[in-house]
Amino acid sequence: LSIYGYSIYSVKQENFLDDFEVPATTTEALRQLSQNFLMDERITDKIVKAAGKIHNHFVCEVGPGPGSITRSILKKAPKKLVVVEKDARFLPTLELLKEASGSHVDMVIEIGDIRSYNFEVGFEKAPSSDWFGAPPPIHLIGNLPFSVSTNLIIRWLEAISEKKSAWSFGRTSMTLTFQKEVAERIVAPVTHKQRCRLSVMCQMWCDVDHKFTIPGKAFVPKPDVDVGVVTLNPLKYPLVNLPFKMVEKVLRTFFNTRQKLCNKGADRLFPEEMRGELGPKLFSLADVNYRVRPFEITTEEYARICFAYKLICEEHPEVEDYNFRATKKTVAV
Ligand code: SAM
Repeated sequence: LSIYGYSIYSVKQENFLDDFEVPATTTEALRQLSQNFLMDERITDKIVKAAGKIHNHFVCEVGPGPGSITRSILKKAPKKLVVVEKDARFLPTLELLKEASGSHVDMVIEIGDIRSYNFEVGFEKAPSSDWFGAPPPIHLIGNLPFSVSTNLIIRWLEAISEKKSAWSFGRTSMTLTFQKEVAERIVAPVTHKQRCRLSVMCQMWCDVDHKFTIPGKAFVPKPDVDVGVVTLNPLKYPLVNLPFKMVEKVLRTFFNTRQKLCNKGADRLFPEEMRGELGPKLFSLADVNYRVRPFEITTEEYARICFAYKLICEEHPEVEDYNFRATKKTVAV
């Protein structure tokens, strides 16, 4: 296989993939789909290892491209592997992999956008497990395009908060790649320089771990950045049990004024005439010190702030629909 004129690989696989060879074709990496391919089998094996036990489990791989991670997954012999790839040009190569895995793995190829993929259909035969018990034998694995990964993780966190989609089966695990800086943000603890809204959102619903970093030079074509492999495992007891959009709104409002003391940002949750009363009330209900900056607040404290905001919204229903940005726009017009 060659991409951008690079000769990429001629694959020899172990076990049931022994006779599989990827035919020589020319495929151009599409920049708009952020196609940076991993060709080092040691790295793709390491990504799959980070997902934990997948033998006899159900796996969805996001964006398999020419199938290097796919092969590492197939070597572990999952019960079922669904690959969801947007670029139909990879279909022949993926079909060869499916053929090579024969009856060993039930492999399903879906050409389409992962954002509209229906996991409930794909994992129809997978066993569900109680949210408070062991996680189900289901894993989502992917070396995603950077442009899609952050957006996707926010969507998936929303689905986790509602126990829908892949999380209607229980606490389905994720092993995903992100631009290294984004991986650092996802796991950033309180006071860390990378701590942001994404850190708090991820940590409210998941146990997060930045497993390792892959140097940019391991990809073809080489991206300008290094890549972090992150596992996200939904928490048995998420730190908040509130509507996702409400939590997102509170956190966005706080982190919009990242370098200022928290009360500055928090005030923007309330209509101007109510700020004098409700701003201090938010912090006192939550029992959080407002004389710190947004990245100095712990995830637990943010959970309490969100609950306090919810209580205030119940007392003053007009607060919930208040949107500081919309007000600004109206003023500007
Ligand atoms: N997994 C391969 C690897 O590691 O070499 C390819 C990784 S490449 C960074 C990302 C892949 O995701 C590409 O094959 C691209 O076509 C695919 N992709 C991009 N957007 C997608 C989407 N919304 N849904 C599914 N696949 C997508």
